[in-house]
Amino acid sequence: MDDQYPGPGLPQQAQLRTFFRLAGPVIAVVGGLTSAYGFISFLTFGADADFDAMPVTEMALFMGGFIVFAIGMAMCRAGYGAIAARYASGELSPVLRDSLRHTGLTPSDRQTQAQRTDGPYCRECGTQAPDRSAKFCGSCGTGLG
Ligand SMILES: [Zn+2]
Repeated sequence: MDDQYPGPGLPQQAQLRTFFRLAGPVIAVVGGLTSAYGFISFLTFGADADFDAMPVTEMALFMGGFIVFAIGMAMCRAGYGAIAARYASGELSPVLRDSLRHTGLTPSDRQTQAQRTDGPYCRECGTQAPDRSAKFCGSCGTGLG
């Protein structure tokens, strides 16, 4: 199916997204906890130690954990980004449509409906009837059919 209709995404797009959705939160939590542990250890260590003995391990845990946390969050965004974008689009589209309509750049609903009509065309003036059951031309009154 993907071979018949290749989209703009990667070949393993779906698998990659599933992986990001599952692994992203886990990595973010692990990184966050590691970072928090390093930070707390750093604070308790620094309370009763002079600065000659910097708690390098705790600092490394804090920094490294934060980086892992950021990677996990990025994976979450990658995995759930489409949902967020779709939601934002669903929220913004009606507003955008109303805004465009207000500026007069888009046809009103009535005009759009008229363009979708499948009624017959008038022999005399060429106006299209709003629906198939129309008996007379709405523009010039000529009988249709
Ligand atoms: Zn007509």
